[in-house]
Amino acid sequence: MPDQMSRPLIRDRGEGGGSRHLEASMSEAGAPVIGILGTGDFSRSLARRLVASGYQVVVGSRNPKRSAALFPEEAEVTSQLEAASQADLVFVAVFPEHHSTLVELKPTLAGKTLVDVSNGLRINRGGPSNAEQLADLFPESCVVKGFNTISAWALQMGPRDGSRQIFLCGNSSRAKSSVMQLCRGMGFVPVDMGLLSSSLEIENLPLYLFPSWRVPIICTLSLFLFFYMYNFLRDVLQPYIMDGHNVFYKMPIELVNVTLPCVSLVMLSLVYLPGLCAAFLQLWWGTKYNRFPNWLDRWLTRRKQFGLCSFLCAALHAIYSLCLPLRKSARYKLLLAAQEIGEKTDVWNDSEVWRMELYLSVGIMALGLLALLAVTSLPSVGNAVNWREFSFIQSTLGYCALSMATLHTLLFGWDRAFKRAQYRFCLPPTFMLVLVLPVLVLLGRLALLLPCVARRLGQIRRGWERNRHIRFTLPDDCRNGLEDISDV
Ligand code: NAP
Repeated sequence: MPDQMSRPLIRDRGEGGGSRHLEASMSEAGAPVIGILGTGDFSRSLARRLVASGYQVVVGSRNPKRSAALFPEEAEVTSQLEAASQADLVFVAVFPEHHSTLVELKPTLAGKTLVDVSNGLRINRGGPSNAEQLADLFPESCVVKGFNTISAWALQMGPRDGSRQIFLCGNSSRAKSSVMQLCRGMGFVPVDMGLLSSSLEIENLPLYLFPSWRVPIICTLSLFLFFYMYNFLRDVLQPYIMDGHNVFYKMPIELVNVTLPCVSLVMLSLVYLPGLCAAFLQLWWGTKYNRFPNWLDRWLTRRKQFGLCSFLCAALHAIYSLCLPLRKSARYKLLLAAQEIGEKTDVWNDSEVWRMELYLSVGIMALGLLALLAVTSLPSVGNAVNWREFSFIQSTLGYCALSMATLHTLLFGWDRAFKRAQYRFCLPPTFMLVLVLPVLVLLGRLALLLPCVARRLGQIRRGWERNRHIRFTLPDDCRNGLEDISDV
């Protein structure tokens, strides 16, 4: 027993190389022989994972002697023809541009399952996919697309690290189910994506670079640039031009710190604005069966990303704010203020103290709610709550966060909007500019809460249409039992 425990799970072949015959002791009785064509990184990781999962593995190489030492000794490394004839299921771990060099294996691979693991170099929208081309090359084999979304490294580490899902598609359900069984045997979770025509989408999956993040990130950066320049004009350039007062030192921290909450609040408003647009469009049309314009459809699907960008800016604003007193400039200002205070008798300003207390408290609450929204947007957390709980958090608590953040900004502004000195270069203070969108969104939301509007929207969302002559009654459990009959 101690001997067995000390034995490594996968043994390396050592320096010797050469082909060995399969060790049945490692494989399950009756388990299919798995073939792999190619001896590159992917092939090596796959062979290790298969051997560790108890499968018999035979690897086909153009030069078996050269590659054999790189594989565990339980795997047989042999010629491509020999591997293709021994295996029942064959992985094609060769780049797609070399698929055609395998055509001489066509008779040997006839009736067998071929798994195409290849990826393209760039996103392919027009097709055909690599898997479809492989299927054309081997019409008598059953091609299954899969394993391309998983890296060689993740394969080697196994399903405990990295993604557990493997997307598969193929036209033969028998071939596909044998590959799915193999996935489960290796500890992965197969996801059936349907027929081989889906292979184009599966091949494109690893090539996307945050497609749903592009617009939210561009929005965040553009807003940041705009508000930063606006604050720079008002808070740095204006004092320099008008009074020769040099405050350029504010640029790295103070300006960034006042810009971040502006971006955060506008981005949070942009999370809720498309929902309002959709609701008002449905009220306007009197039906929910008209399609939204494409831009609104795309915006609705990107709300999570807008929200996460907003949360990032809010969190950075909190960190920057905590660091403000650490700066040398802040210490000098504190010393100056202390000197001034020493000459005065009554320095306590009740309304200023209250403003600050409320302003900070509401800001912390807004950040806490935003953090909750961000956490529940994670798929693993979102899956643990039902739809009603999810929409309560994302909609009700989301609007609470927006209200708190708006209040935070209002308290920051306090009565400064009415002071002439705040309109530097004739530009309104930044907080006034920032408040426009959230206030509009909150007013829009309040308008939708009006009973007559909410009832009509409720009817529309349950299928009522203004132009149809249907008598429509809202169910009792909807809208607290309010009954409404259409006016047509
Ligand atoms: P690689 O390291 O370059 O290995 C490719 C292998 O193909 C070679 O070792 C070679 O083995 C074999 N081959 C057969 N005919 C060939 C020919 N005519 N010219 C050149 N090589 C030929 O590539 P890889 O990283 O293992 O990738 C293999 C496939 O897996 C690719 O389609 C790739 O898109 C896919 N994939 C790779 C990863 C990854 O993380 N690496 C992840 C997902 C998918 P012999 O010399 O022994 O014949």
